[in-house]
Amino acid sequence: SALVKKLFLQGKVVTINQEIDFALAEEIAMEYDVICELEEKIDVIEELLKEEEEDASTLKPRPPVVCVMGHVDHGKTSLLDAIRKENVISGEAGGITQHIGAYVVDIKGEKITFLDTPGHEAFTSMRMRGAMSTDIAILVVAADDGVMPQTVEAINHAKAAKIPIIVAINKIDKPSANIERVKQELTEYELIPEDWGGDTIFVPVSAHTKEGIGTLLEMILLTAEVGELKENPDRKARGLVIEARLDKGKGPIATLLVQKGTLKVGDHIAVGSSYGKVRAMTDDKARKIRSAGPSTPVEILGLDNVPNAGDIFVATDNDKDARRFAETFISEGRERLIEQTKAKLSLEDLFTQ
Ligand code: GDP
Ligand code: MG
Repeated sequence: SALVKKLFLQGKVVTINQEIDFALAEEIAMEYDVICELEEKIDVIEELLKEEEEDASTLKPRPPVVCVMGHVDHGKTSLLDAIRKENVISGEAGGITQHIGAYVVDIKGEKITFLDTPGHEAFTSMRMRGAMSTDIAILVVAADDGVMPQTVEAINHAKAAKIPIIVAINKIDKPSANIERVKQELTEYELIPEDWGGDTIFVPVSAHTKEGIGTLLEMILLTAEVGELKENPDRKARGLVIEARLDKGKGPIATLLVQKGTLKVGDHIAVGSSYGKVRAMTDDKARKIRSAGPSTPVEILGLDNVPNAGDIFVATDNDKDARRFAETFISEGRERLIEQTKAKLSLEDLFTQ
């Protein structure tokens, strides 16, 4: 009945025995799958990371963390580049920022942290582990192409994570652009523009001509303001791995997003199943820094191993705690794997008998 109701709300009237087409079935299944998996994983990890609730008086405003999503070739990378270039202060290392999978934009003193188009895999896993790794999703839809399968996937991901969606209708410079059609198509997914009586912000933009980029940034700040994003900067840091790699000379390098507290050089940390001490830290502009507060992406050196994108990191009091956390994470992970394998095997048994 939940499915019948869901379809009804999308304007599709079906009965309980009715066959629906494959694409629709897939879309629904995926959405439910993502939600179930999400809840299950959060349970385990949250249990592991249980901590006392922050006292409201310790909370201070923090920048929003924004993720750009959408169908391939609809202009996610171009849009991020356009935003970054608009914001580069002239003279800043030739305007070229180091690629660390995330960057911070400063608009008249207000910051926005952008996560660079993570693969869907990484995004899902990040959402699962961090529950609320991003505050706002920018859904990029090309005005000449309209809603495509990965657009729908992105909508489902954002909805499962319960984060607000801002629609950026891109490529409006193209002669074949049709903004109204995109708006129309998105109403099917309960994304209704404000001028049509809904509450979704739509911003027509062009990554090529930069038209609308300023408005998009304003809308992000506005949405962030409504969310009243706050965090306690005066505590041990906790956050997520955006990406990680092994450097031949420097060893494991991880890009972390600090979500709570302040991460400092010299801190002991556990990062998923890796651990170590922050030996060096750089910001998104490759500048050496000594500390980083909430919503700040940083690159760090000093881990014993390369962690996974989406892993949680926590700063600990000492080396022993960091190691214990990492070990718990490994054993939890292993147990889950065993459980999952068991579940999968029993399903297979069922079908082969
Ligand atoms: P992504 O796969 O979503 O990251 O898309 P890309 O940023 O790689 O863009 C895909 C293609 O669309 C590239 O050839 C871009 O030059 C082009 N493109 C992106 N934004 C615009 C735009 O605003 N206008 C036009 N005309 N082309 C664009
Ligand atoms: Mg891209």
